[in-house]
Amino acid sequence: MAFFHLFPAAVCLGVELTAAEVEYVRGHGPVTMCVDPDWIPFEWINEAGEHEGIAADLNRLVAERTGLRFELVRTRSWDESLALSKEGGCQVLSFLNQTPEREKWLLFTEPLFSEPNVFITREEHPFIADPGDLIDETIVFPSGTSMEEIVRRRYPNLAVRTVGTENEAIGMVSGKQADMTLRSLIVAAYTIKKEGLFNLKIAGQLPNFTNNLRMGVVRDEPILRAILDKGIGSISQRERARIVNEHVSINVQTVVDYALAVKILLGFGVLAIVGFYWNYRLKAHNAELERISRTDTLTGLPNRLKLNAVFQAEHARAKRYGHPLSIIMLDVDHFKRVNDELGHLAGDALLVAIAQAIRKTIRDCDVVGRWGGEEFLVLCPETDAPGAMLVAQRIRQAVRDAAATGRRAHTISGGVAELAPDETVDALLSRADKALYRAKDTGRDRVCGVEKEGETRTEAERT
Ligand code: GH3
Ligand code: MG
Ligand code: MG
Repeated sequence: MAFFHLFPAAVCLGVELTAAEVEYVRGHGPVTMCVDPDWIPFEWINEAGEHEGIAADLNRLVAERTGLRFELVRTRSWDESLALSKEGGCQVLSFLNQTPEREKWLLFTEPLFSEPNVFITREEHPFIADPGDLIDETIVFPSGTSMEEIVRRRYPNLAVRTVGTENEAIGMVSGKQADMTLRSLIVAAYTIKKEGLFNLKIAGQLPNFTNNLRMGVVRDEPILRAILDKGIGSISQRERARIVNEHVSINVQTVVDYALAVKILLGFGVLAIVGFYWNYRLKAHNAELERISRTDTLTGLPNRLKLNAVFQAEHARAKRYGHPLSIIMLDVDHFKRVNDELGHLAGDALLVAIAQAIRKTIRDCDVVGRWGGEEFLVLCPETDAPGAMLVAQRIRQAVRDAAATGRRAHTISGGVAELAPDETVDALLSRADKALYRAKDTGRDRVCGVEKEGETRTEAERT
């Protein structure tokens, strides 16, 4: 593959080119190149109309190594450069990200340079863990950047605004006309420092997106891309680092210093810790809210919402395994009188006392909750009707013993039902209700059970 004997110039330049490539290099005049005239410190067009910056130096190395000559086509903006490149007004673009949109007219080389993209916000903005979570926020871009295209596609939750230049974009964030912008780490650190925009900070990183800055070649010149790739492949990491350092340190002394890096890392560290703590608090709060939403505030028992959930689960389990499940519907006797004669507060206190008495009496595997005003429901898993009748009787007795106001004992009535094959939760509840009505009808302070739909019999009378 070496053609140095034919074309000694090619080898002196450090890359091996094929015959066709050498022919291209020798036969072709200067390669026209469009650049971003305002992308300091990556690249810009200086007052003398020359291409300067990190990209310019990297392009120059590529030119030296391959023997190509680049001729700068001057433009006033990046948009103009893109438009000119589309029309065929220049053969290469010096330094840009690869995007599907740009692939329509460009071939891309291997990256000349890689670095992350960071969100720049004002100091008070919280850390951005996931840009998809941001609500009602504006992001500003210089128009025509690949970042704009990516953010529009990935984060439709962000309102995108575009302006003419990088500096206008960052100025809008500083001046509170936009919430954030997105920039390469190097440009961000450079600008914040150079412009003295100390109300700005780096608030996070665009996930899974590194700037891979490449050269773009018009699609009908694949050979030119192949030559450029060879030139790019010959640039070492040390050479890249030297070029970056020269540009960043010429204009700003401490952009790439360790103090700043440590500060940024510490900032991220603190924000990450705050974020974790916040998340932990939020989870604890949510668990508490969840608990509150399922607890009856007066008695502290599970409320109807919670009971329904447990009931559904126990019903499914009983059906699945063919195990027995019984329920006891309880209703305080003549409770209205308590309210009427002693007042609502005494009524409340009585309800609390009854709730405690029930809770103390039931077994560990049973669940009691407040079904309604002065109604309680007990779920008795793994329990048949006779077993549940015993539980109900114990509850009735315990309430009688515990719930007294003055010399008056208060009583409770109960209806017991055991789940029948293929019976729904509602049907079972309705049978327990019927049994309860029967207990009320036959004199209160008693529990009744039902064996089958429509058949009611009193199991336990007043003792
Ligand atoms: P029965 O023996 O037929 O059940 O008679 P009852 O008086 O208990 O009848 P009913 O179910 O009609 O009345 C229940 C009363 O319970 C009505 C309501 O004012 C009262 N109540 C419901 N919830 C509460 C509460 O949280 N606190 C108080 N103090 N009273 C309540
Ligand atoms: Mg009632
Ligand atoms: Mg009642």
